[in-house]
Amino acid sequence: MQSDGVRLCYLAAAVLFIFGLKGLTHPRSAVRGNLLSALGMLIAVATVLVSEAGLDWNVLLAGLAVGTVIGLVLALRTVMTAIPQIVALFNGFGGGASVLVAGAALIGGAPPEHAGIRVLVSTAAAVVIGAVTLLGSLVAFGKLGGMIKIHLVFPGQKMVNGLLAGCCVAGGVLLVMSGGDVQWLWATVIAAGLLGVLLVMPIGGADMPVVIAALNAYSGLAACGTGFVLSNSVLVIAGSLVGTSGLILTRIMCSAMNRSFGNVIFGVAMGGGGNVDADAFYDGKVKSTSAEEVALLLEDARRVVVVPGYGMAVAQAQHLVRDMTRLLEARGVAVTFAIHPVAGRMPGHMNVLLAEADIAYDSLLDIDAANPTFSQADVAVVVGANDVVNPDARNNPDSPIAGMPILDVDRAGTVVVVKRSLSPGFAGIPNPLFIADNTLMLYGDGKKAIGDINAALKGL
Ligand code: NDP
Repeated sequence: MQSDGVRLCYLAAAVLFIFGLKGLTHPRSAVRGNLLSALGMLIAVATVLVSEAGLDWNVLLAGLAVGTVIGLVLALRTVMTAIPQIVALFNGFGGGASVLVAGAALIGGAPPEHAGIRVLVSTAAAVVIGAVTLLGSLVAFGKLGGMIKIHLVFPGQKMVNGLLAGCCVAGGVLLVMSGGDVQWLWATVIAAGLLGVLLVMPIGGADMPVVIAALNAYSGLAACGTGFVLSNSVLVIAGSLVGTSGLILTRIMCSAMNRSFGNVIFGVAMGGGGNVDADAFYDGKVKSTSAEEVALLLEDARRVVVVPGYGMAVAQAQHLVRDMTRLLEARGVAVTFAIHPVAGRMPGHMNVLLAEADIAYDSLLDIDAANPTFSQADVAVVVGANDVVNPDARNNPDSPIAGMPILDVDRAGTVVVVKRSLSPGFAGIPNPLFIADNTLMLYGDGKKAIGDINAALKGL
């Protein structure tokens, strides 16, 4: 039986999680939200360890110190562009932890006072969802990090997945009916782990962010199941919050790509380039420009829209983009930023980078607010974005990204695209924007190219 003190600590942790999540809804309050949630988690973990495991405070503080150092080193060493695969790994660890804790509770026979149908059903749910999350996330981690390069697609794949899903359900039912026979636990974990691998292996290109968000939701649902196994209210609350917010994020991302979730998971994987010969597609039709010419264009403009993408993150060009903005604003040019919801490699990627460079939140427009402004913009400067400005999504029903909402940069007076070459983006397809009459390509690394524009602007 939990004491009032323990319950109060759990309540405080739950309240902190909720305020933390609220803070994460806006870039301005995101850091505070993150800190509040972390504080909630610290209170929850410390309460469990001290009250349930009777851990000595000194051991707790030592663990805290070691964890803080590991977290700090990881955070400082991780580059921005690797965040999505790190998130995938975290999701996987969450799912794996649920499998281990729920499995250990079953194998260890704990908690005896609650053992019964509720605990067994929760255990089955936690291990199925947890194992799918663990293995699915490891595959996602490998794919995003470039370690796994194949999109595994084979005839009858949906049937095999369906069979495996059936095995998971059957394993869970047998686990419950047998009163917790451990062999059904292992069988269920193996079937669910295989399902996780086979579900994520065929997914590629622009669908991966949706999968990461979904796996995040699953890790929360698995934790929630484990909370029921352990009769731990704070785990149930934290798991439900992660599960539901992950599902909401998944939905938002699906609409940002105009796909249904079922279509992402079971449909044809996006990406892979289709059948278009890129050399023939671009041959002789692309106009390139220089930093000096772009500086002249920008100086003459009244309205400029900057469109950041993954390449800006790779080049770490955000600070120079800010300098360019300031140089232009000092000359009376109105500069805004158009942010696509899946620009970069994680939701909110561009907002984080631009906030880091002290670019005013008010100048960041989301896709709905930005699109009507392009027709009034004299120049749109696309910095390392590709898929999110590909007009084929709007104009070509056969394109792999058909229907994905895009930023309508092609409607600006002149479009300057900063990138190193004509290489494709994440979806692996050519971009007709690069051969449009009003487009000029400024080839080069994002940082170098924007630095050259700034130098040219200063010299005018
Ligand atoms: P893209 O991936 O479509 O294109 C990025 C472009 O950046 C490339 O064409 C590349 O061209 C260029 N680039 C790379 N390095 C540099 C550099 N150092 N300097 C300048 N340019 C560079 O990016 P978008 O942001 O337009 O689109 C994001 C894509 O990623 C979408 O397909 C989205 O679905 C997907 N995705 C998004 C996630 C999210 O949640 N945001 C997560 C996972 C995937 P070049 O090599 O020629 O320089």
